[in-house]
Amino acid sequence: MLMPELPEVEMARMLVQYRLRERQVITVEVLDDKMMANCSADLLKAALQGGTVGEARRHGKNLLVGVGSTHLYVHLGMSGEISVVSEGVHTPHERLRLGIGDGFLVLDDPRRFGRFGLYRSIRDLIADKGLGPDALTVPGEEFASRMEGRKGSIKPLLLDQGIIAGVGNLYADEALFQERLHPAVKVNALSRNELIGLGERVRNVLETSIAVRTDLSRLPDGHLLRDRREGALCPRCGTVLGCMRIGGRTTVLCPGCQSER
Ligand SMILES: [Zn+2]
Repeated sequence: MLMPELPEVEMARMLVQYRLRERQVITVEVLDDKMMANCSADLLKAALQGGTVGEARRHGKNLLVGVGSTHLYVHLGMSGEISVVSEGVHTPHERLRLGIGDGFLVLDDPRRFGRFGLYRSIRDLIADKGLGPDALTVPGEEFASRMEGRKGSIKPLLLDQGIIAGVGNLYADEALFQERLHPAVKVNALSRNELIGLGERVRNVLETSIAVRTDLSRLPDGHLLRDRREGALCPRCGTVLGCMRIGGRTTVLCPGCQSER
């Protein structure tokens, strides 16, 4: 399974919103308290039990589910997945299980890099984590303004959640590929128009993935994400795709259409 990114978190948000909204939290089972972000299991139970599920919100890759006057916070980490199941149904690596109405909200996470806890508001979450604006809400012009004047290569800046929240490794590579920009290019070597184009593209690749419900095989032709392997062929020019590490992250690119400057 691929690491969850913004589109997967948005899927989880919609699932919770449609299946659990306005239902009451009846039971709270913390099955791995090492994954608790900012409170104890007892506090989580006291805060959520008896509360009614309200709005489910997302900011970047963070999910907040309104419950009464607080919010359950979930970050999916490297391998987390949220599902809604019926009584008696279990997933293999359950870490948190909430009985809500007649169903159960389950956080399953084999690798246990996910986190859960409590935040009073989305504003508290943003301040605590120092997050930039959510990637789906940032127009190209604002993206360019937030990038201009910074130092370093473009890809690590794209992944910096304090500049823009929600761009992960796969979608950073995809947006750079679509815009024919080399991931290691210095941001100060890019024109304002190139930055505006990249900002629009970031939003577009995230929206496109959400539109196909993160089934990457359903992405339109010409997407790197359909077959993102070293040694696969560029869907645009047929060159063998390359792989390098930038800012410590595995980066896939086409040496044919993303040339260095
Ligand atoms: Zn190419």
